[in-house]
Amino acid sequence: MSDCIFCKIIAGELASDKLYEDEGAVAFRDIHPQAPVHFLVVPKRHIASVAEITPENSGAAAHCFEVIAKLAVQEKLSGGFRVISNCGENAGQTVPHIHFHVLAGKTLGAAMV
Ligand code: 5GP
Ligand code: ZN
Repeated sequence: MSDCIFCKIIAGELASDKLYEDEGAVAFRDIHPQAPVHFLVVPKRHIASVAEITPENSGAAAHCFEVIAKLAVQEKLSGGFRVISNCGENAGQTVPHIHFHVLAGKTLGAAMV
């Protein structure tokens, strides 16, 4: 998708603070962190949101969770972390390329799940 910010980061056309990259996904630090540790895990394949996951593309999303498990070790998140994916307008999704926020580094509030 030529006008997608995350596709541009994946293509190296936009800079990011990258933590991890493999053939299927990238992880980079959120530009506006909401916790001491806040990074995004993003499949290289453009899928708009969780609502667009199908049997045909679900492997790309599942792979992101393998990456999250690996990064939890790499980034020493043994104290725990939260994974969030905003989907659609009411959830406040601002970038229409599926991504998983990983938040950690402090006690996260119990207000939202
Ligand atoms: P959403 O609101 O769609 O759930 O999450 C999008 C996230 O992407 C936001 O937390 C926002 O700060 C982050 N973001 C938006 N543009 C950029 C960017 O150009 N670089 C990085 N690293 N993060 C971005
Ligand atoms: Zn994209």
